[in-house]
Amino acid sequence: MLHSNLSVNEMGHLTLCGADTVTLAEKYGTPLYLLDEDRIREKCRTYHRAMKTYFTPDSRPLYASKALSFRGIYRLAKEEGMAVDVVSPGELYNALSAGMDAADICFHGNAKTVADIRYAMDNGIGLFAADNAVELERISAYAVEKGVTQRVLLRITPGIDPHTFDAVNTGKVDSKFGSAIATGQAEEIFCYARSLANIEVAGFHCHIGSQIFDEKPFCDAADLMLTFMVSLRDKYGYTAEILNLGGGIGVRYTEADPYIDIDDTLRLVGAHMHAICEETGYPMPQILMEPGRSLVADAGVTLYEVQNVKTITGYKSYAAIDGGMTDNPRYALYQSRYTVVNASRASDDADFTCTVAGRCCESGDLIGENLTVARPEVGEYLAVLVTGAYNYAMSSNYNCITKPPIVMIADGKDKLAVRRETFADMTACQM
Ligand SMILES: *Cc1c(COP(=O)(O)O)cnc(C)c1O
Repeated sequence: MLHSNLSVNEMGHLTLCGADTVTLAEKYGTPLYLLDEDRIREKCRTYHRAMKTYFTPDSRPLYASKALSFRGIYRLAKEEGMAVDVVSPGELYNALSAGMDAADICFHGNAKTVADIRYAMDNGIGLFAADNAVELERISAYAVEKGVTQRVLLRITPGIDPHTFDAVNTGKVDSKFGSAIATGQAEEIFCYARSLANIEVAGFHCHIGSQIFDEKPFCDAADLMLTFMVSLRDKYGYTAEILNLGGGIGVRYTEADPYIDIDDTLRLVGAHMHAICEETGYPMPQILMEPGRSLVADAGVTLYEVQNVKTITGYKSYAAIDGGMTDNPRYALYQSRYTVVNASRASDDADFTCTVAGRCCESGDLIGENLTVARPEVGEYLAVLVTGAYNYAMSSNYNCITKPPIVMIADGKDKLAVRRETFADMTACQM
């Protein structure tokens, strides 16, 4: 199967880390998000081990929690010694309510409001990834008011397009995030931040993109960032304590995607950086990385019940399910490719080509087109694989459809982590 946590049991049912998905669909109802907790923990440990070994002993991963945000995942992150990224006060609230320490949280975003900044600082946020001058002024003003010094990283755009595998001076320089090295604005914001009261520039941050399948773009980004940092040292005598290389390690959604070895990728990036530091005499900074997708995506499977199957004579076939773009908008948004399996008959030949259609009143509400599955019967369960990232996190109540529950599986046992939303939950804010 696509990933080692997926298999088929003697009844021909799809299993996720040994748990029978059909049994779970019957127990909890559908649509249903399943999450292999053991796999997420294993990934956290891989990142930790690799970063300490190949970068510096104090280097560490931060879970980019926009990929999947609920209390249980923050508790897990805390247990695994992870720091976390948040991009809104809501994510921060969620992390804090799960018992995360604010000192271990980095607050991202390109449009932080005064209220966001105050809320984060009142809770003792460890780091801001500061995007722009207005934000820095706001942080400084509130730090002065509170009589504290706030640590920040400056978000820099190194000018890398990870999908052409070239360092370019256009493209990614043109971004809503951060300040570009190529235009001189990265140096300007550095000088500006250093001139502000009660701000400590702890280092720099970059995030070059997502679904990256080899080490080259990370090495290129590290090159550009370290070159920039060396130039600041030579000019201003400043040495950065932290370099945050962002997230973006790719995940295998279909057989057409490659497989990327996280440990090996980090080993190569680490060797590359140590070499540059040696050459330039720059002390190797503490490295932070921010994996989101690669920590949680392949731990997830979504189960749906098939409601009907129709074949338009001379055209194609549709399998309609009891969920869709409200729980997984990624095909509608980006034509993202998924692997779909008939979970009820996972050992049968996948010889039926169809479009899997959601239940919304919206033609674009599809999970995928030209998918091949064992011909589904009404009442069977379809499993969409690798849905742990950016599915629940991007879910909506369009058409007043309630959000599915999340069931986590650990050590062979299933437990409800997020209950199914009720109609009362959904309408609770309405006067
Ligand atoms: C989205 C994002 C991440 C996580 O990216 P993945 O591709 O999910 O690993 C990390 N850092 C920043 C700043 C991001 O915006």
